[in-house]
Amino acid sequence: MQKSAELFEQAKSIIPGGVNSPVRAFNGVGGTPCFIERADGAYIFDADGKKYTDYVGSWGPMILGHNHPAIRNAVLKAVENGLSFGAPTALEIEMAEKVREVVPSMESLRMVSSGTEATMSAIRLARGYTGRDKILKFEGCYHGHADSLLVKAGSGALTMGVPNSPGIPEDFAQHTLTVSFNNLDEVKQVFAELGDQIACIIVEPVAGNMNCIPPVAGFLEGLRQVCDEHGSVLIFDEVMTGFRVALGGAQAHYQVQPDLTTLGKVIGGGMPVGAFGGKQAIMDYIAPVGPVYQAGTLSGNPIAMAAGLASLNELCQGDKHQQLAANTEKVAKGFKAAAEKHGIALSINYVGAMFGFFFTEEETITSYAQATACDGERFKRFFHLMLEEGFYLAPSAFEASFLSTAHTDEDIENTIAAAERCFAKLAA
Ligand code: PMP
Repeated sequence: MQKSAELFEQAKSIIPGGVNSPVRAFNGVGGTPCFIERADGAYIFDADGKKYTDYVGSWGPMILGHNHPAIRNAVLKAVENGLSFGAPTALEIEMAEKVREVVPSMESLRMVSSGTEATMSAIRLARGYTGRDKILKFEGCYHGHADSLLVKAGSGALTMGVPNSPGIPEDFAQHTLTVSFNNLDEVKQVFAELGDQIACIIVEPVAGNMNCIPPVAGFLEGLRQVCDEHGSVLIFDEVMTGFRVALGGAQAHYQVQPDLTTLGKVIGGGMPVGAFGGKQAIMDYIAPVGPVYQAGTLSGNPIAMAAGLASLNELCQGDKHQQLAANTEKVAKGFKAAAEKHGIALSINYVGAMFGFFFTEEETITSYAQATACDGERFKRFFHLMLEEGFYLAPSAFEASFLSTAHTDEDIENTIAAAERCFAKLAA
């Protein structure tokens, strides 16, 4: 860690906390973050030359593994034609058509450059479309760092204990209503009182920013019904779940159709990309067709589109998601069995290619309250023991971990074997 430690010190002298996005600083687990030099397949290599099997995957985009040749070659080819035009390209149509083919509820869609932009734009659109100001989100869900959405937020905001960030005017925050994830009764109560003022519900259909919490049976269906009854827009934030929990995202997996969907991460193959889209009648409110303004100089950037399209085309070849889901189950169940052998209480959640584990006596974790009550100190020790062993898990108890198609059976067996050694040390 010598070189990483030196770089971290140097970085802290010029970049706040030494990082350009908070969770990278290892705030959730303490210690020195690994500075990464390169990555290939299922592995990342740090500045000290140490190799790690990676379960973060750049927080999601690397579903095909790092440095995938199809994506790399598409980018290299695109670069030869120029980096940005600020004018429309045929590639953007191809990309939009590919996304719609896989996520048909996105009848019309627009590209942006990050997940934050996607959710921020979708919220503005829902407000413009309904003429209402209030939005409803769930405690512990993270939808990027737009003002309205950093209220009781998950991910780095939760890790750092600032789910309600300073800098957000009370006048904005008061329009964001928050209720408990997986609690339909609370949603119904709020709608009974304020339904005619609520523009939208935004939800991570599988919560991935307070560890990994799938929806309980009937939850997503219930949200759909409430929105229909009250004329509110249902937004599935599939920035994390899209193309990951199933090819068609959580909406395909759970068979519930939102009005709007937000995407990011995976659809860029590693380049900065996001998208929002949905029902034509709603999307027609977006400028230049409609009055709701939204724009971006680098939106639909040709290099990002080339990477994204190559990634999605590759992801659609064969049934990659069956293998991803089977491997994810192997890791999750392997962790559970290894922990049990050493008397460590562990609860696991997994859907498609995302998983989470909780140090708790509880059988299943379905809520924010349960997730935040787990043994955080034990998580930190386990994380660092795994890191020493050469396995890079999400550096926070409030983030999901990800598998890629590059993880082999051998990688998975090695990971479980290492986890067992680490659980043994925890138990000692
Ligand atoms: N929504 C969800 C569900 C996310 O997980 C994230 C990022 N982790 C975002 C939105 C924001 O995306 P970005 O970091 O690209 O702005």
